[in-house]
Amino acid sequence: MPVKLHIDTAPVWEAYRQDCECPLCLLYDQVETGSVEYFLGDSVMEPSQRIEVNEKGFCGHHFSLMFEAGNRLGLALMTHTHMKQVIAKLSGDTKEVEGTSVFKRILGKKSADAPLQIGETCVMCERIRNNMERYIYTILYMYKHEKDFPSLLEKSKGMCLKHYEETMREAPNHLSGEVLQDFTKTLRNVELANLQRVADDLEWFTRKFDYRNSDKPWGNSRDAVERSINKLRGHVVN
Ligand SMILES: [Zn+2]
Ligand SMILES: [Zn+2]
Repeated sequence: MPVKLHIDTAPVWEAYRQDCECPLCLLYDQVETGSVEYFLGDSVMEPSQRIEVNEKGFCGHHFSLMFEAGNRLGLALMTHTHMKQVIAKLSGDTKEVEGTSVFKRILGKKSADAPLQIGETCVMCERIRNNMERYIYTILYMYKHEKDFPSLLEKSKGMCLKHYEETMREAPNHLSGEVLQDFTKTLRNVELANLQRVADDLEWFTRKFDYRNSDKPWGNSRDAVERSINKLRGHVVN
């Protein structure tokens, strides 16, 4: 366990108190919204940040979020310097590349064949991933160190499957022995029970279409389709 890692438990407590289908999806949405503001804000003018943006760019999803956010000039400036770098890389001429101190010209066939390796990179995805890793670590830390957290986790609605798997995968890296066993057993039971609950809601949604059930109450099933999808894949539909 990294000893010096800064642990901010407040956002995790806050997310768990929302009693939602996945506290990590809630945190993810917060981090993503914050990241869009961050990259369209002044911070991106910091040289080290700008070099990274120029080098990696953004994935389609994050480009579209920034496009919708409306700071068209900020986005244009950032996209332009990134495009200059893409062009420089593609042409093999890296002297135009900002932040590259070494002048380097790759001649001939080699540069044309060299893979660009920018198609799949995204600085925002990386930033979000780092934040989410820290939140997962924080959950594991809180399970071990914060007296009231295990019972809150036990009473929670579990997680989406994506975040459940990520958390289970990370657990042995930060917990061990009895605490690890406790944690994985608890989270698995919570997850199973809540997948069943959502599946039951979904089943009732389908049965409501039967005319014999049309007068019966919806219960919690009105939004069962979106909750099921989000439970399986993370927050993708509203
Ligand atoms: Zn999730
Ligand atoms: Zn991205």
